[in-house]
Amino acid sequence: MDHGSTSRRQALQQLASLGALGALGLLRSGQAPAAAAGAIPGFGGTVTRREDAGYEGLRQSLVWHRSKPARYPDLIAQVRSEDEIAAVLRHAAANRLKVAVRSGGHNPTGPSLRDGGICLDLSALAGIEVDRARQLARVQPGVRAIQLVARLAQDDLTFPTAHCASVGMGGFLLGGGIGWNHGYRGGMATFNIEAADLVLADGRRVTASAEANPDLLWAVRGGGPGLFAAVTRFHLKAYPLPKAIRVSSYILPFAKLATMTTTLDALAPTADPKLELLALLMHDPAAPPGTPPEQAKICFLTAFAFGDSDAQAHAMLAPLAQSALAREATVKEENQVFTLFELFPKFFSTSTPGGYMGRYAAESAITDEPSRILHALADHFRHAHSPICHVIASYNMNLRAHADACFPSTARNYVGCFAIWDDAHADEDNFRWLERATTFMDPWAKGHYINEVEPRRNPERIRQCFPPATWERLQALRRQYDPQGVFHSWLGQPA
Ligand SMILES: Cc1cc2nc3c(=O)[nH]c(=O)nc-3n(C[C@H](O)[C@H](O)[C@H](O)COP(=O)(O)OP(=O)(O)OC[C@H]3O[C@@H](n4cnc5c(N)ncnc54)[C@H](O)[C@@H]3O)c2cc1C
Repeated sequence: MDHGSTSRRQALQQLASLGALGALGLLRSGQAPAAAAGAIPGFGGTVTRREDAGYEGLRQSLVWHRSKPARYPDLIAQVRSEDEIAAVLRHAAANRLKVAVRSGGHNPTGPSLRDGGICLDLSALAGIEVDRARQLARVQPGVRAIQLVARLAQDDLTFPTAHCASVGMGGFLLGGGIGWNHGYRGGMATFNIEAADLVLADGRRVTASAEANPDLLWAVRGGGPGLFAAVTRFHLKAYPLPKAIRVSSYILPFAKLATMTTTLDALAPTADPKLELLALLMHDPAAPPGTPPEQAKICFLTAFAFGDSDAQAHAMLAPLAQSALAREATVKEENQVFTLFELFPKFFSTSTPGGYMGRYAAESAITDEPSRILHALADHFRHAHSPICHVIASYNMNLRAHADACFPSTARNYVGCFAIWDDAHADEDNFRWLERATTFMDPWAKGHYINEVEPRRNPERIRQCFPPATWERLQALRRQYDPQGVFHSWLGQPA
């Protein structure tokens, strides 16, 4: 075998494909660098160009974790108003520049950073208006989870925000949104979007609701990080603040995984929807130093009871306290009283268990079989490359199908697998570990959660989040509402 000529041929092929990609990049995004560098008419916000001194610091700050994508927009436009969004989009359309939108910057894949064109940063749009009587909140996309919880609490209301305080409402709601008390509030937060205000690719401002532009509302409810419009305000259904929150947590040795899953399989189908059951496979933070990582894993169940009364919250947790899971737990804390605010730092720090903001990648399954997935994954999980990797399963999610939403509710529950690591040299190992994890998850998956899949390595993953007919309808709407392809599509998908 002629290794020399093979590798030369490969190198030539790579060069050729790089050239092709370069040309494509020019066509798609760098078509009018002069225009990109020029002023944007009607825009008074901050524009940072690639050649500006502060560009790289700003670019990196737009993605929350440490795996900063090597993707470079020509300019970053930080807007202050909806009018300015329209100005940016008109400028982009006129100059054939592509636009990627950013709200909270928490998406692990960093889809708001693309090569060339404009990154439209909406994070400063962080207004919240509350109509207490109608239990409605009008929320701008840059609002963070904890900001919405804090504002609504002033009116004795709440919303199923992300469990992590700093996640942006924009990407969270568009992709689905697994929030606090999700089983009682629609399974995914996106089903609580009653209407949305949008700026379309041609700069037009429209509202999408059941009455006006229902096809746009359908797309907003689950279209994820590749929508063909910029959402400037979500009109959200809010809920009465729970009167009592009690939490029970149990830690079991990893070898007792079957005890945890058997208990949950028995309890979950009849559990009160106000009981959130989150099962975690994780590294034992209390493991003695020197314990081989694969011997230092635990099962951790947390049950959050969001009651209308303290007695109700107690009653929801009682079956767990009497279960084999409680009997076999090595550590347990039962019936602890919490406020919603206290849940954020206690159970989900601003980044990950342990407050760690590392390099990050996630995969997920929407499934009717969370226990089968946990068992299928168990051995692979024990051998995870990084001790911060973890797996989360929601057992009482109550996802239902919604004809007026593109979020594909094909099953009732969810399992997420998270690779989190520190060393850039370990990227390949961790991505491979996550990819292999999908081979254990996918046989039991009926779909995937678009906010937690890895298109950086496998562009097909985005398409796999939707049934074929839903995918086709989304493509048709993209062609209708953004015929010129101003907005970037999902990461890895052709424009
Ligand atoms: C530490 C951490 C904790 C998390 N916890 C949860 C959780 O509890 N539950 C859960 O469901 N998810 C959770 N997530 C996932 C999170 O919901 C998604 O990553 C989501 O995309 C983040 O939204 P963002 O606005 O912060 O991100 P961004 O990166 O700003 O947005 C992601 C993409 O969404 C699109 N987008 C965002 N805003 C708009 C807009 N206004 N108009 C049009 N398109 C827009 C764009 O394509 C954008 O690139 C978590 C993520 C992390 C990193």
